[in-house]
Amino acid sequence: MNTEKRVFNNIVDAIGNTPLVKLNSITKDFPCAVYAKVEYFNPGNSIKDRIALNLIEDAERSGKLKPGGTIVECTSGNTGMGLALVALTRGYKCVFTLADKMSKEKIDILRAMGAEVHVCPTDVEPEDPRSYYSVAARIAKERDGWNPDQYNNLCNREAHYKSTGPELWAQTEGKITHYIASTGTGGTLVGTGMYLKEKNPNVQIMGVDPDGSILKHWFDTGEIKPELARVYAVEGMGEDFIPENYDRKYIDHIETIQDKESLQMCRRLAKEEGLFCGSSAGAAVQGLVQMKDKFKEGDVVVVILHDHGSRYVGKIYNDDWMKEKGFL
Ligand code: PMP
Repeated sequence: MNTEKRVFNNIVDAIGNTPLVKLNSITKDFPCAVYAKVEYFNPGNSIKDRIALNLIEDAERSGKLKPGGTIVECTSGNTGMGLALVALTRGYKCVFTLADKMSKEKIDILRAMGAEVHVCPTDVEPEDPRSYYSVAARIAKERDGWNPDQYNNLCNREAHYKSTGPELWAQTEGKITHYIASTGTGGTLVGTGMYLKEKNPNVQIMGVDPDGSILKHWFDTGEIKPELARVYAVEGMGEDFIPENYDRKYIDHIETIQDKESLQMCRRLAKEEGLFCGSSAGAAVQGLVQMKDKFKEGDVVVVILHDHGSRYVGKIYNDDWMKEKGFL
């Protein structure tokens, strides 16, 4: 039993310093040790708490976010939860716009954390005044709000350069050889990669990308092809454009995964390792398994588990949904 005293002045101070947990069953035929960085131990149950804090602190310093100010973002997920958490401890208001395809639970969670949530129609063009982009832009203007823009704001990757990277270096006592993460905005992959490569340029930085995203093609060829984008089921990862947080020089490889294998891997993580995670964690571990031949004895591999399974009980962990989608 871990008896370390974790006593904090407020919930935001509990962000970070998440555990590194050895995988034992899924990786039993691997030649090396594999550890999972279990990011659902953050207070908002995901790695995005780290960036929410850094985005807000940077905006405070630069004066973009004033005392009592309003944060306006179109988000449904983990970044919204992190922003709401930090905002409520510092007296900011949060307004989130969401598409109506999002689950009721996600809306209720954000409202429970004090955010004002506007649900907008999914089936309209981004330029339509009713779309969640347009509504967010209108509200930001009306209320002199601040939009964090996690895609192009480099404070996103900086959060990982300052926290996730140093934690992994310390937790592995500088022995980490491979770092694997599902990638969306690029913050988790590139920010941590920048720190690890500064410490040891040989550490391999490996992204995991869903079939249907354009990131893998861009990384391999340098071409940006939005027309290659297709719909996929894993959440929070993959893109149909290249956010500014990316920088190819800190990435060594991108592995493509499929929905079915990734979602089934979530179930294995829960049943075999006791790690109850979201779909991007299953995807990252599926990527890890596909890349097994790249590892040798003595390597120390770390894989990021981005968020908790509770937000996906009606999907990944529901047999009816899995069967209906053809994932079982
Ligand atoms: N998984 C989940 C569940 C996420 O919310 C995100 C953030 N979009 C990612 C993976 C990808 O992380 P990043 O945006 O830092 O690349």
